[in-house]
Amino acid sequence: MIIVMKRNSSDVDIATVSDMVTSLRYQPRVIHGTEQTIVACIGDELSHQSLDILRNLPAVESVMPVQKKFKMVSREYHPANTVVDVRGVKIGGGNIEVIAGPCAIESYDQFRTAVRDLIDCGIRIIRAMPFKPRTSPYDFQGLKHDGLQIMHDIKKEFDIALVSEVTGPDKVEQLQDIADMFQVGARNAQNYDLLEQIAKIGKPVLLKRGLASTVEEWLTAAEYLIVNNCPQVVLCERGLRSFDPSTRNLLDLGAVAVAKQLSHLPIIVDPSHAAGARRLVPALARASLAVGADGLIVEAHPDPVNAFSDAPQQLETGTFQTFLDDLAPWIDLARKAALHPDLA
Ligand code: PEP
Ligand code: MN
Repeated sequence: MIIVMKRNSSDVDIATVSDMVTSLRYQPRVIHGTEQTIVACIGDELSHQSLDILRNLPAVESVMPVQKKFKMVSREYHPANTVVDVRGVKIGGGNIEVIAGPCAIESYDQFRTAVRDLIDCGIRIIRAMPFKPRTSPYDFQGLKHDGLQIMHDIKKEFDIALVSEVTGPDKVEQLQDIADMFQVGARNAQNYDLLEQIAKIGKPVLLKRGLASTVEEWLTAAEYLIVNNCPQVVLCERGLRSFDPSTRNLLDLGAVAVAKQLSHLPIIVDPSHAAGARRLVPALARASLAVGADGLIVEAHPDPVNAFSDAPQQLETGTFQTFLDDLAPWIDLARKAALHPDLA
């Protein structure tokens, strides 16, 4: 249930409502909007008492059931676009951001060259992956501890925001001091224990859509983060498992449009893991911005052909500026469309 408070309600009114919600065995979450305050009530509506009686309180405007499994993620709950702040870099609400970096950290020189090239192109958030979730145990699993050390050295030198994938619970602590944003990969998109654990750290999270998750499952996974007090969530569409091997994953741009309507969270697209082939990445990137994405996360490597993982899909960091220059008109359009949603 969502309780919408009247516009002039006082702190005492809100506290009274919160106390009543608690006494009915729900957890209240008070969200102060620019115009109105909302109290979201967390609890199992089947086993708890109805909150309908709160309608009678003078300070309450309405009590709305939320039929959907996601509540705090929904636009009903929070109509305005959320802006996520990653160490000062904003994503969402007209802030279109391109995140880039190699699939994995492979060596000090490889990562340093990639970061230097990308910073020269104006990239402000770098993919920094010492841990890799690989489908085969025989594939490169990342440099792990050595990769973390490289991350520390590079961050010290370049003072740049880093997004890093948390592949399992033990990685949360290892990445906590160095990552500015945690990535939850497609394979962990429904690992609810991990989502809860990550949420407790309070860092921004990049939540990829699962390999075969519905939009509802994707948004409900985001709900796990928000309900556990981690409101800074960026959703990421990265393509789905499909019948057709023409692309590595079937990029579901329809889902980006649907999720933008259903949710206030920023949504970015990963054209690299969707395409699986570098020649397709620019087209998928353009299409993503056209459909309303708030940004992209793109794999780029100084020597992509010889990359230890995902060699066929990585762009070259040395020529990344050309990719960005070609994309510039679409970035401009995406920014305008986000600021004037009637155009979208
Ligand atoms: C990645 O971004 O490094 C990755 C493994 O992607 P995904 O989880 O989308 O497969
Ligand atoms: Mn990859």
